[in-house]
Amino acid sequence: MDCIFCKIINEEIPADKVFENDKVVAFLDIRPINPGHTLIIPKKHVESLFEVDEETLKEIMLTAQKVAKGIIIALGLQGFNFTQNHGAVAGQIVPHLHWHIIPRKENDGLQPWDRKVEYKEGEKEKVAEKIKREII
Ligand code: 5GP
Ligand code: ZN
Repeated sequence: MDCIFCKIINEEIPADKVFENDKVVAFLDIRPINPGHTLIIPKKHVESLFEVDEETLKEIMLTAQKVAKGIIIALGLQGFNFTQNHGAVAGQIVPHLHWHIIPRKENDGLQPWDRKVEYKEGEKEKVAEKIKREII
C-alpha cells in the first residue's frame, strides 16, 4: 500500500519519532503549525476513527496524554490543541488515522475555530434530537 504513514511505521522513510510502542507511533509533523506539532498514529493502517479497534483507540488516547504532557513540559507551553481531521472536507490529507497535538503559547496568533453560526429559534433542539436518534 502506498501510504506515507505506513512507510514511516516501517522505517522506509525517516521521521522524528518521539514515542513508539507495539500499537502506536508519535512523530513530529513535517510542516508544523507550531514547533513541536506532533502526530499520533496507530501502527495498523485504518483510514478513519470509524475503523479503528477499541484497544488501539484506547492506546492512542493514553499515548496522547503522555506525549502531550511531554511536549508541554519540554517546550514550556501554555496549552495545545488536540484534533483529528476526518475526511477531505475537514482537511484530512493523509488517509491513515492520525491525531494532531498542536503546541500553543500566549499570543501565537492562531485562531483555529471560527464561531460565527447562530442557531435559529428551535433549531438547536431539532439538531440535538436528530443526532441522538443516530447514536447507537
Ligand atoms: P491531515 O491534514 O491529513 O490531518 O494532516 C496530515 C499531516 O501530515 C500534515 O500536517 C502534514 O504536514 C503531515 N505530513 C504529511 N506528510 C508527512 C511526512 O512525510 N512526514 C511527516 N512527519 N509528516 C507528514
Ligand atoms: Zn497507512
